[in-house]
Amino acid sequence: MRLMFVGPPGAGKGTQAVRIAAKYNIPHISTGDMLREEIKGGTELGKQAKSYIDAGELVPDEVIIEMVKERISKPDATSGFLLDGFPRTRQQAEALGTFAVLDAVININVPDDKLIHRICGRRICADCGATYHESMLEDPKRCPKCGGSLYVRDDDKVEIVKQRLSVYKKKTQPLIEYYTDLSILHDVVGSGGIDDITDTITDVLEQK
Ligand code: ADP
Ligand code: ZN
Repeated sequence: MRLMFVGPPGAGKGTQAVRIAAKYNIPHISTGDMLREEIKGGTELGKQAKSYIDAGELVPDEVIIEMVKERISKPDATSGFLLDGFPRTRQQAEALGTFAVLDAVININVPDDKLIHRICGRRICADCGATYHESMLEDPKRCPKCGGSLYVRDDDKVEIVKQRLSVYKKKTQPLIEYYTDLSILHDVVGSGGIDDITDTITDVLEQK
């Protein structure tokens, strides 16, 4: 199954993507995670990407397209994959169409006021990568799963979050129409329990 998740930052794409990818045994390909790995590794690509990410802007299309194309050509992706965070522009969507055909696009939506609250309260475990909202943590600094220390992503600060939302509306939201026209778009409401949303997405994929 070749899937793509689209939705504004904070819609819960990443959380759901991890679960759905595990369920269908396909690799979860998150361009945001890949870029953060490059930054961590101090690579040339990472250095190039960092200034865009920190400003809440998109990394240039050519860079991202090349990165995804290479990732999708790996053996673990031959029978399917779940794209999370790509494509994010019309140019990326058109490029993707030249090297892969998607079976379904899941559009996860959440009202704007909730998005800002969700992202600004996001905490990530430095050891296991789990994400939490600060309101669900007893100890704001420790991961309840593994005891690792929690951190806030550099681009999760309120001014940057507002910028990311505005970039989403301008550059990524038009893809909803693009994939609706291809008859593969499915809308899912992203507010509610995490398990319920996973069930809804699973239902949508089974009924397709
Ligand atoms: P979120 O969906 O919460 O905004 P991501 O982890 O998907 O976060 O992405 C973080 C940042 O990485 C984006 O703001 C952008 O700068 C960069 N990025 C990720 N995917 C892409 C992409 N497909 N095209 C351009 N930039 C991207
Ligand atoms: Zn942890």
